[in-house]
Amino acid sequence: MTINEKNYAYGASKSSIREIAAYGAARKAQIGAENVFDFSLGNPSIPSPDAVRESIERSLQLPPTQLHSYTPAAGLTFVREKLAASLCRRYGENTAAADDLYLTCGAAASLSISFHAVVNPGDEVIVIAPYFPEYRVWIETAGATCIEVMADSETFQIDTEAVRVAVTPRTKAVVINSPNNPVGSVYSAQNLAALADVLHEREDALGTAIYLVADEPYREISYGVEVPWVPAIYDRTLVCYSYSKSLSLPGERIGWVLVPPTNPDHDRLVYAIAGAGRSLGFVCAPALFQRVVADCCDVPSDVEAYTRNREALTRGLSELGYHYIEPQGAFYLWVKALEPDANAFFERAKALELLPVPSDSFGCTGWVRIGYCVSYETIVNSMPAWKKLAESYK
Ligand code: PLP
Repeated sequence: MTINEKNYAYGASKSSIREIAAYGAARKAQIGAENVFDFSLGNPSIPSPDAVRESIERSLQLPPTQLHSYTPAAGLTFVREKLAASLCRRYGENTAAADDLYLTCGAAASLSISFHAVVNPGDEVIVIAPYFPEYRVWIETAGATCIEVMADSETFQIDTEAVRVAVTPRTKAVVINSPNNPVGSVYSAQNLAALADVLHEREDALGTAIYLVADEPYREISYGVEVPWVPAIYDRTLVCYSYSKSLSLPGERIGWVLVPPTNPDHDRLVYAIAGAGRSLGFVCAPALFQRVVADCCDVPSDVEAYTRNREALTRGLSELGYHYIEPQGAFYLWVKALEPDANAFFERAKALELLPVPSDSFGCTGWVRIGYCVSYETIVNSMPAWKKLAESYK
């Protein structure tokens, strides 16, 4: 029987991050959870704020036909009004109006909708490597080619000169993710301004329009650095947001796409986003959680637990001589493997029950990602194994 071979391949090849997590779960069942140090997944380890439960309980008082019914495709109007007002308070008057927001099933849906909204077959979309591996799947499914551009190898900021070289007449979009998964870097306002200059210069030279897709599920998780508001720096921006990490709700699937009013293609893009959501069959974002995020959009994320984990992990690994990129946001530590082959390094780590993710999964060699959205005890108790691993290379 003929089936869609591309989707067969996506399904059969699986995500290596999820495979490591599945191995971790099986290993925990064999030798006890306390003996396996699984740093593979980006599942938040802190509970949702109390306000989430309170909001759910309030909504459950509504008549079921009201609570569980379809909502408008873009989301309930009062919800979008509340979210837009919150964005205006945070980033300035006229940052967003209700009609600029399209509620989605999380950043994954926001991104695939955005790609479908802007690309035509044969277009190219630039990603900054290392990058979240699902970008490639969503870009290719939208009919475009995924073009990898390495970040600056020292700072892991965007290498804007490399982006300049990679832009072609077919470049339709550049995806940026700050705070970054897997590196934990936050792109500075200066770096983003340099990127904006490059994109404007290339647009002018080629007579094309290049969109900046800002993937921001980690916006609320930063450690004392400012996370610049991208639409204030580059006009053709789409913002893809999610509450998976900020409110610890990854399984509930809720987020949004913003077409900022300053985007020169705003009116057509709003329709293209709605059309992409429609053609992909999303119908509407989960109704209950639309109400929850309206209630909780101003509740601060609890970054304290991640701050404590980050400090314990960086202190421990630096004492052992590991080289890593100081994380400014998100909950990942990007650590240099102790040999050029990150997969070989991972195998040695795995033998000591340490489960980071090799960097090859993210489009670059020689590093591993440690997700520190785990319990504090996991970090502290893993240190003897990290020590043994370092000693095995002496
Ligand atoms: N983008 C990045 C960089 C992520 O790390 C993730 C999830 O881990 C997503 C998008 C998808 O997030 P969501 O759960 O909101 O779909």
